[in-house]
Amino acid sequence: MIRRTFATMSNNFGKRLDGRVCIVTASTDGIGFAIAKRLGLEGGKVIVSSRKQKNVDDAIQELKKEGVNEVIGTTCHVAISEDRKKLFNLAIEKYGKIDVLVSNAAVNPEVGCVTDTSEKAWDKIFDVNVKSAYLLAKEVKPYLQQNKGGSIVFVSSIGGYSPFDLLGAYSVSKTALFGLTKALAVELVHDNIRVNCIAPGVIETKFSSALYESESAKEETLSRIPMKRMGKADEIGSVCAFLCSDDASYMTGETIAAAGGMLSRL
Ligand code: NAP
Repeated sequence: MIRRTFATMSNNFGKRLDGRVCIVTASTDGIGFAIAKRLGLEGGKVIVSSRKQKNVDDAIQELKKEGVNEVIGTTCHVAISEDRKKLFNLAIEKYGKIDVLVSNAAVNPEVGCVTDTSEKAWDKIFDVNVKSAYLLAKEVKPYLQQNKGGSIVFVSSIGGYSPFDLLGAYSVSKTALFGLTKALAVELVHDNIRVNCIAPGVIETKFSSALYESESAKEETLSRIPMKRMGKADEIGSVCAFLCSDDASYMTGETIAAAGGMLSRL
């Protein structure tokens, strides 16, 4: 597991999410874990989730060690309806409300350009990366309405702007999240629900390991990043905390790229 942290700085964080109930999907490792940690360190009550119970248990323990006071979790495969229900029910049973949803899960079952992608892989990518994000937003809406507002953040990718050669279908699915963000932002603005998105660049996690594990892959990856380094998951956690907080109170429908200077325009 790759969880490089700013742990020593954690006591210096503000409390912008004080008392807010924050659901983060796919949050037992990588970027989701870093988001859960940062929201928790800023005072949020965090619900972590992923497919495997052991990962959930380990993440809860680790988040507590990192200084997160309020954290619970459950298994949730984002493409399974009963799992999503279970996730929302847990938040309501334990805390009585939901303030924040961070939709972070994604898969990429095949490496290749768009025309090399099998139909099966295409369907899986869109099922998990796009359809589940739409369903999570649709299903959390009544809770956020009851709460008189809230915040939704989608985790997209810089590949949604400039498609990665070998991540064709995945990149298209991430572009779709920009559209979902725009459409939902306008739709939910009257409910005081803000909807924003993050486009991370290459972040050092298990998911991206093929891009940096061999020297040649690393060299190729760094050649595409103006900052000449990969990002840390915590550098996405901080962007997410901003978007969920009142510091971003006049922002909705936006995507923030945190990608070391990589191109971020469609
Ligand atoms: P990661 O380190 O591999 O972590 C993946 C997490 O997702 C794990 O907690 C895993 O736990 C969980 N997970 C996987 N499939 C799931 C599913 N169907 N339902 C629920 N949880 C699931 O990945 P990451 O790099 O942090 O990626 C997180 C997000 O950032 C993704 O949306 C990815 O597209 C995006 N992103 C990553 C990068 C990068 O360079 N790393 C760049 C741009 C965007 P279990 O195995 O227990 O389910």
